[in-house]
Amino acid sequence: MTDAPDIGELNPADRTLMGPGPSDVHPRVLRSMATPLVGYLDPSFVEVMNDVQEGLRYVFRTDNEYTLAVSGTGSAAMEAAFVNLVEPGETVLVPSNGYFGGRMGEMAERAGGDVVTVDAPWGEPLDPADVEAAFDEHQPTVLGFVHGETSTGVRQGDIDELTDIAHAHDAYVVADTVASLGGVEFRTDEWDLDLVYSGSQKCLSAPPGASPLTLSDRAMEKVRNRETRPNSWYLDLEGLWSYWGDDPQYHHTGMTSTLYALRESLRMVAEEGVEAGWARHRRMAGALKAGVEAMGLELLPADEHWLPSLNAVRIPGAADGDALTTHLLEEEGIEIAGGLGDLAGEVVRVGCMGHSARPSNVLRTVGALGRALE
Ligand code: PLP
Repeated sequence: MTDAPDIGELNPADRTLMGPGPSDVHPRVLRSMATPLVGYLDPSFVEVMNDVQEGLRYVFRTDNEYTLAVSGTGSAAMEAAFVNLVEPGETVLVPSNGYFGGRMGEMAERAGGDVVTVDAPWGEPLDPADVEAAFDEHQPTVLGFVHGETSTGVRQGDIDELTDIAHAHDAYVVADTVASLGGVEFRTDEWDLDLVYSGSQKCLSAPPGASPLTLSDRAMEKVRNRETRPNSWYLDLEGLWSYWGDDPQYHHTGMTSTLYALRESLRMVAEEGVEAGWARHRRMAGALKAGVEAMGLELLPADEHWLPSLNAVRIPGAADGDALTTHLLEEEGIEIAGGLGDLAGEVVRVGCMGHSARPSNVLRTVGALGRALE
């Protein structure tokens, strides 16, 4: 048998997190996780869940009753969206302009959907005219898109136009806000989204593991009227709602400490004000953008499609992206990331998310990038 391992004290490196997530977690949120546990149906924990739901409705800008946190990272919320909303044989339209749009397609396919794409180059958002043409050609039941595409640093605009097109075809719209919720303007009800999901570890600056999700009554009705049960027991939204709804029943063990943390981070969003938070992200990321541009570097997307929470900076000719990210990590203690998928070697990705979006972090990061490129 294996001997008892000699596991030392927990001692992760001291980092400033300026990558695509996780972001720095505020000490208040860290402290909340040291709060003693209670049972997952304890009345005081049900209150914690209710607070989380209220906080999520606020940050999603929605009155949707069906608002909860999925146990798992952003991909679990993405999977919950597609495995519930897509029935086998339905056509699902997903974007081709980034890594996470591709992941949506994979999940929709595993849910039994016939996946078709609406195309745009990496670095550009979807054009509503192309979405309209794809609807006319394929008549999809579900359209998925990524609000903040972390692989390219592109912000999808024209969202009300996308939902108008989809609804004129009686379809449902799923938005990925994993890299944007709480950091970049997003209005679930005003823009008429059917299902929106996110992650906790980016602009909300909570630890990963409790992923926000909200869906409209119309979308929940589609889930309830499915002919076949969703191909996942754990992520079945009806099952999840039996725990998160008015009369909480055991479905799976609530994520006690992780929800304490998400609650505290949502409390901080409410204290700052969600619109003030969007403005802070624009201001801090604006300083970061101005700093790298002053060094002669360029961001991948055009200014009108810039995503403040994730800045994809083109690597200048002679530089090596891996060397740059390694240098920042090892010499400066700052985490940024290299390019993902098609953009590997072309860009570095500098996040400006949640508690990381503050002046000292931005100044250090711009300075470190400048030194690394000298
Ligand atoms: N969608 C987007 C836009 C993301 O940036 C990410 C993660 O970076 C995901 C989905 C998947 O989230 P996770 O890695 O938390 O599972």
